[in-house]
Amino acid sequence: MPMLRFKVVEEAFKRKAIPVVAPDKSLTEYYGKYVFNRKQMSKFLSKETLKTISDAIDKGGVLDRDIADHVAAGMKNWAIEMGATHYTHWFQPLTEGTAEKHDSFIEYADVPGGNIIEEFSGKILAQQEPDASSFPSGGIRNTFEARGYTAWDPASPAFIVDDTLCIPTVFISYTGEALDYKTPLLKALSAVDKAATSVAQIFDSKIKKVYSYLGWEQEYFLIDNGLYAARPDLVLTGRTLMGHESAKNQQLEDHYFGSVPTRVQAFMKDLEYEAYKYAIPLKTRHNEVAPNQFELAPIFSETGLAIDQNLLIMALMKRVARRHDFRVLLHEKPFAGVNGSGKHNNWSLGTDTGVGLLTPGKNPEENLRFITFLVNTLVAVHRHNALLKASIMSAQNAHRLGANEAPPAIISVFLGSQISSVLDKLEHSTSEEAIVVDAKKKMKLGIAHIPEVLLDNTDRNRTSPFAFTGNRFEFRAVGSSANCSSAMTVLNSVVAAQLNEFKAEYDAKIAAGVSKEKAVFDLLKRYIKESKAIRFDGNGYSDEWKEEARRRGLDCQTSVPLIFEAYTAPESIKMFVETGVHTEKELYARNEVKWETYTKKIQIEARVLGDLAMNHVIPVATKYQALLLDNIYKIKQVYPEDKANKMAEIDMALAEELAERIAAIRQDVSAMVNERKFANKIESERDKAVAYHDKVLPFLPSIRYQIDKLELVVDNELWPLPKYRELLFTR
Ligand code: ADP
Ligand code: MG
Repeated sequence: MPMLRFKVVEEAFKRKAIPVVAPDKSLTEYYGKYVFNRKQMSKFLSKETLKTISDAIDKGGVLDRDIADHVAAGMKNWAIEMGATHYTHWFQPLTEGTAEKHDSFIEYADVPGGNIIEEFSGKILAQQEPDASSFPSGGIRNTFEARGYTAWDPASPAFIVDDTLCIPTVFISYTGEALDYKTPLLKALSAVDKAATSVAQIFDSKIKKVYSYLGWEQEYFLIDNGLYAARPDLVLTGRTLMGHESAKNQQLEDHYFGSVPTRVQAFMKDLEYEAYKYAIPLKTRHNEVAPNQFELAPIFSETGLAIDQNLLIMALMKRVARRHDFRVLLHEKPFAGVNGSGKHNNWSLGTDTGVGLLTPGKNPEENLRFITFLVNTLVAVHRHNALLKASIMSAQNAHRLGANEAPPAIISVFLGSQISSVLDKLEHSTSEEAIVVDAKKKMKLGIAHIPEVLLDNTDRNRTSPFAFTGNRFEFRAVGSSANCSSAMTVLNSVVAAQLNEFKAEYDAKIAAGVSKEKAVFDLLKRYIKESKAIRFDGNGYSDEWKEEARRRGLDCQTSVPLIFEAYTAPESIKMFVETGVHTEKELYARNEVKWETYTKKIQIEARVLGDLAMNHVIPVATKYQALLLDNIYKIKQVYPEDKANKMAEIDMALAEELAERIAAIRQDVSAMVNERKFANKIESERDKAVAYHDKVLPFLPSIRYQIDKLELVVDNELWPLPKYRELLFTR
């Protein structure tokens, strides 16, 4: 029987692009077809109901049961017309992805055993109590009080997947603590709305609401289905735990922005049609730097919706990939030696009057507003840089950050030369210089001219984890598999807290009779000084920066379990409690979940690698060694001693190398198992995670090193697992 590796490589090479049929209607007609959006609502809801729910969505009002009943009835009629038979509350537990439990619409009309109807009430729409006791809660839900509720979030539209109506919900414990990603996110968005609105009103009293916007850029790898199946490490951990670098990988940079391979093109097209049916406005698609790596990005939208859409697209990507005999890899670092995948979070704030608060204005007044929001963001990121780093950290993302491809594991902000010089000028001018009185006796801040279109500026620094890109900040440290809520909750919370502080100080100055311009100027000047350490426009990959960042007092912690502790630092607890985003109890509980997840990830990887090393690699290396020894033996039989010794020299050295590497692997695997046993006995989740990080994790690269060296010398015919060149260059 041919080895699985050769079979799957052959099959993969023969595959052709699967034809994709375009929808027979125009984009505008099928766009959002699976979503209960305003267009559908206006068809299936009464005028009054539509108005109440629209108000609730726009202004965040509360919906009573009566309205919920009406919405549920309309939603059910729409869903049934669309062929749905089931419904589910769709929520975001603290694991990866989303969770759902499907129930059918079927009910007995009156008596058990009687007539059947399809029912869906406001009560079911509004709240469910899934038996979800196995979702992580960090000790919040003890078994006797294991109840968790899912509650409808009317602001994100319901949608249909296959035969199931999915209702986006939050997931909270019986005692009210958040058990998911969405609850704190919604609180953070409301906090930043309130805080930013009150600051924006300094400049324009007509502003009533501020939205947080998010545009994510999703990077991913596509791997042929068969090749994937032949790599147990990919299947079980999402990344390759071994594999020698391919002779060619990304050094020619010929993949980036190159033409998209035809099978991939078909996948992208198919995915786009699907995405549009879910009203996900995909805009960009292209190859990424690493071979078989790609990216897609929609047009940005309100943060809560953008995150739901990202979670949905990750699920859609997996489904559509299967149709094209691909597997999509969302892991942050599936392959060593080539780039990993991130998910840049483009973030900004915008008003209900259509003004981008991080967009430079056309006149000094508008620019004062712009600088105010920019500088407050800087201060927030500076004060909470450790927390922001914690918000994007995971076992997977740790492989990416700090490598020479992704932002370093230190948070800094890139502003570019123009904005930097404006801030420098402000910092060094006196209020007499800065505040100019114009002809009409109007006071203004003499801010240097800021070009309106910074977007075209090319001085974009790719090494910065948090970069200003003209009308938004780009948080680049977010990982490709992450739920963006984690990063967006922290970012919006810290900015809200900072804007609140700014407003309080501003109000005090106004009360003391200081002019508006001078009050803003004085505060900005102080804030610019205070937050200077976070600004860095140089090369974030360099070793000098690591030294420099330490000197500047930025958080330089690299141990993932310890990075999480930023969540429970006194200044973080204070910030989360004051903004109403998290209770102290929640923060501690959620860290327990993070540590536990970290431990499990490393544990699984360690087991898989141990298994591959012992059952796949060593037997093959031994087999090859036997072949060599056999050859040596035969040489010695045939040739005179002198000549034979010379001829067998290389094979003998190789056989010895194999023996040494096999011994080293055996030794490491057994030492790793011991460390695991030791760590597993540790009671505290934190200490256990630290032990996994400090004692277990280091064995993974050292075992891999030996295996990869073996891969280079063992007969290719014997090597069981698809090699990097096959995984990365077959498409
Ligand atoms: P690049 O790869 O050059 O960073 P992309 O076009 O791939 O840019 O992605 C940029 C993302 O930023 C898109 O999702 C886009 O909609 C989003 N974006 C643009 N302007 C804003 C803004 N003001 N606020 C938030 N996101 C934005
Ligand atoms: Mg970008």
